[in-house]
Amino acid sequence: MQVRGRRFDDGTSVSVAIGEGVITDITPVTGDANDPWLAPGFVDLQVNGYGGQEFNDLDLTTDQVVRVSLAMDADGVTSYLPTATTHSFEMLSSTMKILAAACEESPEVARRVPGFHLEGPYISKQDGPRGAHPLDHCRPPDWDEFQRLQEAAGGRIRILTLSPEYDGSAEFIAKAVVKGVLVAIGHTAANSDQIRAAVDAGASMSTHLGNAAHGQIRRHPNYIWDQLADDRLVASLIVDGHHLPSSVVKSFVRGKTPERCVLVSDLVGMAGMPPGQYTNTSIGSIEILDDGKIVVAGQQQYLAGAGLPITYGVANIMRYTDCDLRTAIEMASIRPAELIRQTPTQLAVGSRADFVAFDLPDTGPATVRQTINQGELVFDASDTTD
Ligand SMILES: [Zn+2]
Repeated sequence: MQVRGRRFDDGTSVSVAIGEGVITDITPVTGDANDPWLAPGFVDLQVNGYGGQEFNDLDLTTDQVVRVSLAMDADGVTSYLPTATTHSFEMLSSTMKILAAACEESPEVARRVPGFHLEGPYISKQDGPRGAHPLDHCRPPDWDEFQRLQEAAGGRIRILTLSPEYDGSAEFIAKAVVKGVLVAIGHTAANSDQIRAAVDAGASMSTHLGNAAHGQIRRHPNYIWDQLADDRLVASLIVDGHHLPSSVVKSFVRGKTPERCVLVSDLVGMAGMPPGQYTNTSIGSIEILDDGKIVVAGQQQYLAGAGLPITYGVANIMRYTDCDLRTAIEMASIRPAELIRQTPTQLAVGSRADFVAFDLPDTGPATVRQTINQGELVFDASDTTD
């Protein structure tokens, strides 16, 4: 198979030959105005579901996991972490089991899903930091419970988002990190000392920094500055145009540096559905507003997740921070892969052939033309039967 396009890193046009799932040759060619951009496939560390299906669902089936996984292809996502959010042990262990079974039964899921993200249930009970997570299920960290969930997941929980505001958090974090889990701080009301202790214990990421926070907070110190200033924390950012104003995105990326930022979509299962009120198996009543914002029903302040894929983040981050495409791809593809200890795809001979061919229009998201996963064309926008 042969794909041509402009390299994301230097803009030169190339023809890429692929065989047996890897890049076998890259040849410079004369550029053509119609060439798409070529870049490593997007790696999305936070996806709660898609197309009406939440992963937090006691009736979840492995077929539904296959469907959500295949749906990622259209957005240029070649790897993603299915994400389960705060809920009962029964719900979370059921979700972990079904996700694990899907990875074992389906090669299509296995090659797209390098692991899972457990967001909660050890998060803040406070309104604001809690976001849309159900209050009744927010709780302090419980090592025995976490081990049982990790067992249900077949050891596939790669990221655990928690709030270090509870007693015993640092000890819990240290144990999880020893077991190879990336611990992220999120949905937190922790103070400066608690955040520092969490990072000292091995926490290395901030989950959707700037979201899941109080509507009003003390100007300083606060948990946003504390995390922004700690160079040991990589920040995940939802840059869909709704979750963070452009000035905040720009300030975060300047403060963290692009090397310490990754883009996530945080898609909820209702992503892509028309405006209206819905009952969601994970967080109850939600409402999709006319502008695509997804909020907890009955109020418009607390977002209940995102409805726009990472292709929006790629285009928006370039507009908001004036960064080049190479930098945007580092935040959308390369750094997220490194964080979960995947070898990132490179446009180089011998690299795993996971990539995306896309256009960057003046407005709106990156538009995907083709997605290639392990050397196989899994999405082609020109294929009208797809
Ligand atoms: Zn969240």
